[in-house]
Amino acid sequence: MSDLLEIVAPKSARALAMMDVPVQCAMLIGGVWREAASSLPSIDPATGKTIAIIPDASAQDVDSAVSAARAAFPGWAATPPAERARILWRIADLIDANIDELAELETLDQGKPLHVGRWAEIPGAAGQFRFFAGQATAIEGRTITPSITYQPQGKQMAAWTLREPVGVVAAIVPWNSPLVLTAMKLAPALAAGCTVVLKPAEDTSVTALRLGELMMEAGVPAGVINIVTGRGAISGAALAAHPGVDKVAFTGSTTTGRAIVDASKGNLKRVTLELGGKSPVIILPDADLDLAIPGAANAIFFNGGQVCVAGSRAYVHSSVYDRVIEGLTAQAAALQLGHGLNPGTHMGPMVSARQAERVAGFVNDAQSAGASIMTGGKRLGAAGTFISPTVVANVDPDMTIVREEVFGPVLVVQRYDDLGDVVAAANDSVFGLAASIWTESLSAAHRLSREIQAGTVWINCHSMFDPSLPIGGVKQSGYGRDSGIAALDNYLDWKTVCAVI
Ligand code: ADP
Repeated sequence: MSDLLEIVAPKSARALAMMDVPVQCAMLIGGVWREAASSLPSIDPATGKTIAIIPDASAQDVDSAVSAARAAFPGWAATPPAERARILWRIADLIDANIDELAELETLDQGKPLHVGRWAEIPGAAGQFRFFAGQATAIEGRTITPSITYQPQGKQMAAWTLREPVGVVAAIVPWNSPLVLTAMKLAPALAAGCTVVLKPAEDTSVTALRLGELMMEAGVPAGVINIVTGRGAISGAALAAHPGVDKVAFTGSTTTGRAIVDASKGNLKRVTLELGGKSPVIILPDADLDLAIPGAANAIFFNGGQVCVAGSRAYVHSSVYDRVIEGLTAQAAALQLGHGLNPGTHMGPMVSARQAERVAGFVNDAQSAGASIMTGGKRLGAAGTFISPTVVANVDPDMTIVREEVFGPVLVVQRYDDLGDVVAAANDSVFGLAASIWTESLSAAHRLSREIQAGTVWINCHSMFDPSLPIGGVKQSGYGRDSGIAALDNYLDWKTVCAVI
């Protein structure tokens, strides 16, 4: 497609101010906005310009935040659930009231096209707070009739369970969809009665800090939400190891997930992990190709492929392979790249020069290994963070491009003849986050959805999210679920009460 589209001026005062002079941000600890001893630049990846200066929290800052969260925990846990619900609902209303500004900030900080934030992710964040506002008043234990027979003569047994908040939660989130992924952790944690220390990604902390302001405005008590920004290896690692943290809720790479599990061992924290993926998109011979081709293209190119559930491995039946590859290549080539604030932009830059470098490295290695680049694979623009949408064919199943998560707009297409073989190929991965199946056959869709190893299977669609739908993985894509009623379990313990009456 044509050259990169230029930036268009944002409308909100905050976003405008950032474009003028980098905004100095502070972190939130115990209800007070504080500076750190050192700071980091936050860069608009499309222009390379610094838009904000964020605190680079130290281990001592993390310690203060954990202390604040610990001090606030008993009060928040004892707050009537209906009051917690009212506050969560107010947060959602404030997100809605500031949606245009939040979407512009997310685009400037992360690079994503404005419409992705404005119509999908920021409403999704508000939706998480509303969904879990509803759940706060619906937390319940069970009554149980035990079969114990050794109680004192003439006495009976009674038993029940209580659900109790796990305590102080460290929420560590990545840079691909910052605000909605933050909401997926904060909303259930606060609904359950936990207090939180949030660590946004160093590349994308701006909307989390703005959310912190909105949460204070909504009436979240001091210390219930604390936000420390900075480097993963410093503040993230300090949180994961901190003895005052009871639980880590993490979304990010599998490598960092492993480091968090290691760091959490000291006090045996509860850990939930939403990690990488290499999600298959399986197109059957009877698929409606008018749906499947744009659907498969969107599954990988939405948000520049910087989506944990991105459909990065397409398996296409031989009978439709030529049509599908031609269609996918055309779809990729037609995408307009540019600054996310330009309304004509379909795809923005990679989040950082480092990420663009990484993605380009995967494509170059695939080409050297003998794969065919059908379209794309180029770095574009002065800042070098744009990667053109890429379709790769003629691969073999052992190539790195087929096995590892690229986290960029790179689709690998493979052909198959037999349904049994394609299930085996799709499952031949250390990951198991998501998959999509494209077919008009009800039976094939049902059968495959059982046979594919994944936390989510979409049928004739991909990347459909809703606060009511659990999301998470099997195998090395992690454990625990975000979103949906299942997510509350991450933040609640069971207490058994057993009585002789
Ligand atoms: P990427 O490598 O693509 O930046 P990560 O999974 O490393 O993605 O980052 C996700 C989040 O994890 C970010 O908030 C990051 O700061 C944080 N993080 C990175 N390294 C660590 C670590 N060792 N311990 C805890 N958090 C970390």
